[in-house]
Amino acid sequence: MGKIILTGDRPTGRLHIGHYVGSLRRRVELQNSGKFDEIYIMIADAQALTDNADNPEKVRENIIEVALDYLSAGLDPGKSHLFIQSQISELTELDFFYQNLVTVQRLQRNPTVKAEIQMRGFSDSDDNRTGTPVGFFCYPISQAADITAFKATTVPVGEDQEPMIEQTREIVRKFNSTYGPVLVEPEIMLPDNSACMRLPGTDGKAKMSKSLGNCIYLSDSAEEVARKVKGMFTDPGHLQVSDPGKVEGNTVFTYLDAFCRPEHFDKFGDCFVGRKASFEFHSLDEVKEQYRKGGLGDVMIKNFLTAVLNDTLEPIRARRHELEKDIPYVYAVLKEGTEAARKAASQTLAEVKAAMKINYFDKGVLDELIRKQSEKFSQAGQ
Ligand code: ATP
Ligand code: MG
Repeated sequence: MGKIILTGDRPTGRLHIGHYVGSLRRRVELQNSGKFDEIYIMIADAQALTDNADNPEKVRENIIEVALDYLSAGLDPGKSHLFIQSQISELTELDFFYQNLVTVQRLQRNPTVKAEIQMRGFSDSDDNRTGTPVGFFCYPISQAADITAFKATTVPVGEDQEPMIEQTREIVRKFNSTYGPVLVEPEIMLPDNSACMRLPGTDGKAKMSKSLGNCIYLSDSAEEVARKVKGMFTDPGHLQVSDPGKVEGNTVFTYLDAFCRPEHFDKFGDCFVGRKASFEFHSLDEVKEQYRKGGLGDVMIKNFLTAVLNDTLEPIRARRHELEKDIPYVYAVLKEGTEAARKAASQTLAEVKAAMKINYFDKGVLDELIRKQSEKFSQAGQ
């Protein structure tokens, strides 16, 4: 059995640094490791429509934004298939069959769906404008269809996706024990650094999320990054520079945990040279230690974080500017990726239908059915 990756993003906005550390950076590393036989990266437009049904233009616009982010972050169409979910109707068929293998009660217990319903402010009324869309409530099943259609073994995602992968594994087990061993149980691949599992937003409260407007986007300019970092909360108890500061729960340090690399201390050591105090740090642990002791101001830390973020984002931005000049190429990549993905998904769907005995007109099957049924009725008529 080959090693196969499936993962993706909803085209509800440009991608942000939470996507980058939660999944995108890892995908690029895995892609370039050469250890995987196939890599499928999905733009989940059908899933985005489950809570944006009245805003198809937003979803359509953001497909190109996400594709640009993918290519500029280093996904390579020569190595990974980048595709659009809605164009593969096989996924919807699988979803429909899997719905019979999951209970309403099981879906109701899904903690991520629960949190997302709350975050979106869906009411529990049957009002068509405010209640929870059925498609949204059921999206874990649709995700199981996406993952299993490609027989994915590995799904690199952020922590919020854990319940989805567990749901998928349950569906696979139920399917295989009922109909025969067709589907593959996927493994989740979480970021190895805990800061990256669920990167908080610039507001420090919830997870960074397109829907919450608390994001630093991969495509933000250097000035926008500086402005957003400047506005971030740190430790509310760190009023004077001389006060001891808290590192835990301090979003500026969480971002440094996710982005800071050893070479940044040589490159951006200037950020810690001030009129009143200067420091020479060689590691993030040393910065944290000083911050805890007191004497290290938020402005210095924020300037350093801005430099660190821009160091990672600058090459991504530069590639994006180039790609933005060649939009036909980006759509060609998506079209080609979608064709490859459809081939793989239709092969799995054929196997699923055969296992479920709903492949009446397949080659050889119809002849056999006709023979058997004719025999039955002719015996009955005798
Ligand atoms: P939406 O608000 O539309 O749901 P989102 O910002 O949550 O958008 P998704 O498209 O749902 O983004 O998530 C895509 C991938 O990025 C998933 O693997 C998810 O785990 C990961 N991800 C999203 N936000 C974060 C975050 N703040 N930290 C780490 N990983 C994240
Ligand atoms: Mg999400």
